[in-house]
Amino acid sequence: MFLLFGIGTKRKPLGAGGVRTCPRCHNTTQWTRMRQFRQFSVFFVPLMRWKRQEFEMCGICGTAVTT
Ligand SMILES: [Zn+2]
Repeated sequence: MFLLFGIGTKRKPLGAGGVRTCPRCHNTTQWTRMRQFRQFSVFFVPLMRWKRQEFEMCGICGTAVTT
């Protein structure tokens, strides 16, 4: 029997975040607010989600800061 399953990390943009100065690229821009979680799925149907966290991401270099 062929069973297709996998564990992945999903990221979902929640909209505009705050205006921050990035610690890595030192640009002051509006960051994007993101939600990330680990997901276990079988046949592309998500069965379990855990380790959910929200963070903001620099639009220039991609540095993430948990808030
Ligand atoms: Zn940056």
